[in-house]
Amino acid sequence: MNEYDSELIRTILTKENFAFVPTEAEADVVMLNTCSVREGANLKVYNRIHEIKRAAEGRPMLVGVLGCMATNFRQELLKNPRLAIDFIAGPDSYKKLPQLISEAMDSVSRGTGHGARKPFDVTLSEFETYSDIFPTNREGVNAWIAVSRGCDNFCTFCVVPYTRGRERSRAPENVVAEVRMLAEEGFKQVTFLGQNVNSYKYEGADFADLLDAASRVDGIERIRFTSPHPKDFPEKLLQRIAENPKICKHVHLPMQAGNSRILELMNRTYTQEEYLALVDKVRAIIPGVSLTTDVIVGFPSETDAEFEDTMKVMETVRFDNAFIFNYSERPMTAAAKKFPDDVTDAQKKARITRLNDRQKQISLEQNEVHIGRVEEVLIEGPTSKSDAIMQGRTDGNKLTVVPAGDLAKNQLVKVKITGASPTVLRGEVI
Ligand code: SF4
Repeated sequence: MNEYDSELIRTILTKENFAFVPTEAEADVVMLNTCSVREGANLKVYNRIHEIKRAAEGRPMLVGVLGCMATNFRQELLKNPRLAIDFIAGPDSYKKLPQLISEAMDSVSRGTGHGARKPFDVTLSEFETYSDIFPTNREGVNAWIAVSRGCDNFCTFCVVPYTRGRERSRAPENVVAEVRMLAEEGFKQVTFLGQNVNSYKYEGADFADLLDAASRVDGIERIRFTSPHPKDFPEKLLQRIAENPKICKHVHLPMQAGNSRILELMNRTYTQEEYLALVDKVRAIIPGVSLTTDVIVGFPSETDAEFEDTMKVMETVRFDNAFIFNYSERPMTAAAKKFPDDVTDAQKKARITRLNDRQKQISLEQNEVHIGRVEEVLIEGPTSKSDAIMQGRTDGNKLTVVPAGDLAKNQLVKVKITGASPTVLRGEVI
């Protein structure tokens, strides 16, 4: 979402005659677009600000902080004299950036120093979707498109509803117009983005309708989406994914925990049994679907026995891949206010290691199933290690490497899978 937002910001500022330079050493204004979902993000950003200021070597330069941290750490960012930040803007205030930058420049040129009164806007909107602005400078073979912003779910561990505000969706005609523009630029794949992407709703249209409408755009061959919530997978949506060849057969189903008491404390609104029933339904309606998940270990008060429930669910479902994190407290969240972070670091470490080790084995076995099959792969470009090897992704989002031959980026090719590791498939173009 932040990559998408950075391009959105570039488009807003370019229209106002700002120019972009390749390195911060050449810049008059440097902006850091931030996220505070993970622990330590603020410290990384503070270090980065010091680096940028050092590199400027006394040359006049404005530094702004944008995104979630602007909302979440506003007081510290504005008041900490060591940071010397000149302006801040939250995720719903990007259209005001030209004004904020100009106010910050005025303040410096008036000789009141870097931000005697620092301009800022961190207002969270119930309406801003940037619907009329299409980012124009995308790279790679996939184009992200934000179809909604914010989230109403208030999972107790998550800061997003506080930093990005309430959920709102873009009009489908705007989203489809953006897809059409991207197809004309040559993109074959788009990925729809939203904090709770599948709860998309705009007047009479739901997420399944939006996917369908986008799939009718000529030139678009693949549509992906992230990140969905398990509560928003009605049968209609699953049927559309199954029936529409352009919608990739990959469903990310964030589980977070396998124990119903912990799920309730997390406010995830489903039990272990309901989650497993959904997995069965997804697999019944979309045969061969690739399933991935997110898991948090060591949520406050999680016992060893409750962690074993998570292990059991991982064993039962056998996800293709899982993104596993230790619980860490986020300021402002309900969990931070209500639940002491009482699972020790050693317990968290032991649990995450066990889960990761087991998942690695399962991922390998799930990937080996593909050996001998023919998969369609969208080529992304050479691997970081060798120009002689190209990498791309299957419909199920599995990273696949093939000999480069005369392959080019953005080509869709048929690949016979010949080998597998836990993270990569190997194959040959046929
Ligand atoms: S659904 Fe996702 S973004 Fe929304 S509160 Fe829960 S974890 Fe955060």
